Amino acid sequence: MNHIEFKGLRRQYQEQKEKINEIVMRVMAQSQYIDGPEVAELEKRLSEYVGSKYCITCANGTDALQLVLIANNIGRGDAVFIPDFTFFATGEMIPMVGATPVFVDVDPKTFNIDPVSLQNAVEVVLEEGNLRPTAVIPVDLFGLPADYASIIEVAKRYNLILIEDAAQGFGSAINEKRACSFGDFAITSFFPAKPLGCYGDGGAIFTNDEECACLIKSLKTHGQGNHKYDNIRLGMNSRLDTLQAAVLLVKFKVFIEYELHAMSNIHAQYSETLQNYVEVPYVPHGFFSCNAQYTIKLPDRAKRDGLKAHLLSQGIPSMVYYPVPMHRQRAFHGLGIKPVNLANSTNLCSTVLSLPMHPYLEPDEIGRVLSAFESFV
Ligand SMILES: *Cc1c(COP(=O)(O)O)cnc(C)c1O
Repeated sequence: MNHIEFKGLRRQYQEQKEKINEIVMRVMAQSQYIDGPEVAELEKRLSEYVGSKYCITCANGTDALQLVLIANNIGRGDAVFIPDFTFFATGEMIPMVGATPVFVDVDPKTFNIDPVSLQNAVEVVLEEGNLRPTAVIPVDLFGLPADYASIIEVAKRYNLILIEDAAQGFGSAINEKRACSFGDFAITSFFPAKPLGCYGDGGAIFTNDEECACLIKSLKTHGQGNHKYDNIRLGMNSRLDTLQAAVLLVKFKVFIEYELHAMSNIHAQYSETLQNYVEVPYVPHGFFSCNAQYTIKLPDRAKRDGLKAHLLSQGIPSMVYYPVPMHRQRAFHGLGIKPVNLANSTNLCSTVLSLPMHPYLEPDEIGRVLSAFESFV
């Protein structure tokens, strides 16, 4: 029996091996390892696909968030609102630039930031009067875009900068509008296990704002001015290298031609059976998920942990994303504002389970996941 991969990176490489090897060899021979032509080519293709004027690649998704915060002068005295149920990096850079993260509860069905809780959290910050509400970072968690129609209303009402964390959302959409185009800024990550991953670390920032795009380009290259040895501000060294851009050019093509559809089909097959027993991923009408994860919700922790152990005994990997809510991360102790009501987020941490999901799962493997599940219930 095949070993079922949780993310399918090995099989993906086997499928794309010739094209990837060829482009990697070309970059090696050409020897422009930093800022080679593949980087600009990738930025052009990604910005066209996403529908955003500018794409600025950088070293990883966490740097992308930090660059956006710095470019907007976010720092001491600023409150930045983020969902309580997400990967740590969504919030990590907020105290790093001196600002204060404010954790917001999520919707129990979509797992994404709840616009009503967001509005309440902004009101709490205003009442306390110590911080300026400055920005909100909704996350397209597990590949499902956040509820931007409602979030944009709140952002406008309070004049918040909207930063879309699409590290897990690349390839998703709401109707015709693609993820990475919903905010004033969007970021994504090319970490290998993300929807569009490279063979190391990588990230990108998207915006329509020309001035900010120039500023971010400068910030990611040592605060560069008109030429390489003209440094007009303090910046970072955060570039996507040419090899990773080349790998991404190959993978992006397959991603939009085949992989996104393949994952949608697997999602449908999983849900057809699983919806009879558990809460399956909820995709609101008009939304398209890139299926970064396929995450089900069990009634309680004992059932969730029991299922995880049972699947493992049948050779099926599964993961708990995420076991700890942001407001309970020790790194944030004393840095955030006193959490309000984060019941949904806290509950999800003990009830969710992500199943193997990647475009190269074979029908017999999907069958094995489903029958292992059925033998548990
Ligand atoms: C992975 C991830 C990031 C950070 O991306 P890196 O490239 O790993 O730095 C940020 N936010 C979310 C939601 C993520 O899943």
